[in-house]
Amino acid sequence: MALAHCAGRVLAEDLTAPASLPAFPSSAVDGYALRAADAGKSLRVIGESAAGRPFEGKVLAGFAVRILTGGVLPDGADCVVMLEDVDEKGELVTVPATLKAGQNFHVPGADLREGERVLVAGVQLGAAELGLAAALGFPRLPVRRRPRVALMSTGDELVEVGAKPVRGQIVDSNRWALLAALREAGAEVRSLGIGPDEADPLNRLVKNALAEADVLVTSGGVSVGTHDLIKPLLESLGTVHVGRVKLKPGKPFTFATIPASAPHPGPLPEGEREKLAFGLPGFPVSSLVTFEVFVRPALRKMQGFTQLQRPSLPVRLGYDARATADRTEYQRVTLRRDGRELVAETTGSQSSSRLMSLAGAHALVRVPSGDQGIMAGTIVEAMILSLP
Ligand code: AMP
Ligand code: MG
Repeated sequence: MALAHCAGRVLAEDLTAPASLPAFPSSAVDGYALRAADAGKSLRVIGESAAGRPFEGKVLAGFAVRILTGGVLPDGADCVVMLEDVDEKGELVTVPATLKAGQNFHVPGADLREGERVLVAGVQLGAAELGLAAALGFPRLPVRRRPRVALMSTGDELVEVGAKPVRGQIVDSNRWALLAALREAGAEVRSLGIGPDEADPLNRLVKNALAEADVLVTSGGVSVGTHDLIKPLLESLGTVHVGRVKLKPGKPFTFATIPASAPHPGPLPEGEREKLAFGLPGFPVSSLVTFEVFVRPALRKMQGFTQLQRPSLPVRLGYDARATADRTEYQRVTLRRDGRELVAETTGSQSSSRLMSLAGAHALVRVPSGDQGIMAGTIVEAMILSLP
């Protein structure tokens, strides 16, 4: 893929330097190139070596060449003196009494050596990595394919954002939240809109989408109500591995694999023989928290990332975190700095419908099930979403 499109992508293969950098001895400053043995003398200036315009002759004893930053150190010279440290008079330049061979220029291979492994497969390509690739002469890089994700909201109560909900209707917000979350996780998203709470049309929609997508992500319809059709649908298409989790929020989270069959011509590469389906709960916070915990790491794994999880940091709890008896809870917190510590404060009511508990949250704190909870003042590892 052309470098211009590689930002944020994952490198597919190790990158080895085909040549050393710098490739030639290059001046680090503006000044004069000469022999260190000529320290303290007045030298005759015989030419110039500017960046991209080398001096082709040789510097002999008693001579100097004016050199500019990035200019090639001429043959014969073994050091560069900064302009500020010399006395220029006509054709002559007087250099300081003490000079060291090797001063003020970069030797070939100082930055990196030919054959050195500079980037490993699995790194995310950012500004520095792309600059490095360009410096080494790679106009294109091998990158991992983004997972193709089909995204669908389900529920007959849902209306498109911008439409005015009548009594009993709500705006489909999950799709926009999940679209952003999926893109941040590196996915290429195709939106299927709002699916109905009706088996046949839902089935058709999902089957069509899975012909092209690697992953299906739905929200809603995974509870145990009579209108909750996602689980039976996934069961009919593949294998449901997880139909419920001991997690709060997110109990009805569902995960299935579906064989990649018909529409694909020819054998599929290893790891693409089955599709993944994530049935996320309908409540907005539940869908986003289960996305963080289960879907994001899976998408990162598919892309070859070495780092699958969000980073974690020790934080001091600024509040008493009450536990849920039978479920691990991911509580949403803001962080503030207090001296050298990060202190976590709750974002308020942790209701799974209350997106305000997640908006502006810096981290998730994992509270184990039971009746213990975690007392204010305790240091815990928090899953960092962003830092204050
Ligand atoms: P369900 O799992 O389908 O029973 O959904 C549970 C609740 O989540 C619904 O009653 C809605 O309040 C909410 N919900 C479901 N889907 C969405 C959505 N796409 N956007 C916002 N809220 C939703
Ligand atoms: Mg529903």
